[in-house]
Amino acid sequence: MNKDNVLITGSTSGIGLATARVLAAQGFNLMLNGLESHAEGAALAEGLQREFGVRTSYCQADLSLVEQLETLIQKAETDLGPIGVLINNAGIQYTSSLADFPQKKWDAIIALNLSAAFHSMQRLMPAMKQAGWGRVINMASVHGLVASPNKAAYCAAKHGLVGLSKVAALEYAEHGVTVNCICPGWTDTPILNHQFNQYAKNHGVSFEQAKVGLIQTKAPYPELIPPEAIGRMIQFLISDSADAITGASIPIDGGWTAQ
Ligand code: NAD
Repeated sequence: MNKDNVLITGSTSGIGLATARVLAAQGFNLMLNGLESHAEGAALAEGLQREFGVRTSYCQADLSLVEQLETLIQKAETDLGPIGVLINNAGIQYTSSLADFPQKKWDAIIALNLSAAFHSMQRLMPAMKQAGWGRVINMASVHGLVASPNKAAYCAAKHGLVGLSKVAALEYAEHGVTVNCICPGWTDTPILNHQFNQYAKNHGVSFEQAKVGLIQTKAPYPELIPPEAIGRMIQFLISDSADAITGASIPIDGGWTAQ
């Protein structure tokens, strides 16, 4: 059984890194990934290994490219063994009106935020089925459930990821493999910096004031969500207590989608 081996994409920063720390503390072995150099990623992996006594490895791979995704998966299987838990977390954002949305940005967002999850699930889920146990957690967003202006590609990709996860959940439910999405709202990671900077510029306020202002445009809960909170939900979804949770899209969004 391979319950302890986790592949988590986009785990050098933000939600991915916080989740890696939460899971390492629980004894999971981790395959880390990101765009950062081998030296930077390996230092991160070795740090977790030293701190928590788990096995870790790192693979620099651009997951918008299918051949690099395959390299990551092969390295994960070589270094850790069969992968029981797949966390598709890597994602990017770009904001622009639909009329001006650059085609290259559209392609890049769909490739990473949606297609990479399709490819990794197609590659890893048959082995989970054979083992009779598996967990797939896809990092969607509130923008997998509702829309905002200027986020055409991101909303399309995240809504797509929610749909893809439901299909996979139905196909694998009888085989002990669950598939769920987490749908975070404003979470305290670098992915938001560009939007905070834009808001600060447009409203003539400081970066810190922009954080407060932007959060309030969408969510009743007035704080940024700590990325560890997402990691702890993932820890729960991996646990046996979540055996019957599949095909769900779980908001952690400060009430954003309750409105
Ligand atoms: P982040 O920018 O802090 O981290 C992104 C990670 O993805 C990094 O490790 C980076 O190296 C990696 N990455 C970027 N491009 C890549 C590529 N082409 N190939 C492989 N790895 C790549 O962002 P985050 O906020 O931690 O975002 C993680 C996920 O959470 C994303 O899917 C994002 O859409 C989602 N999300 C974030 C928020 C938020 O408010 N922060 C809200 C909802 C959903």
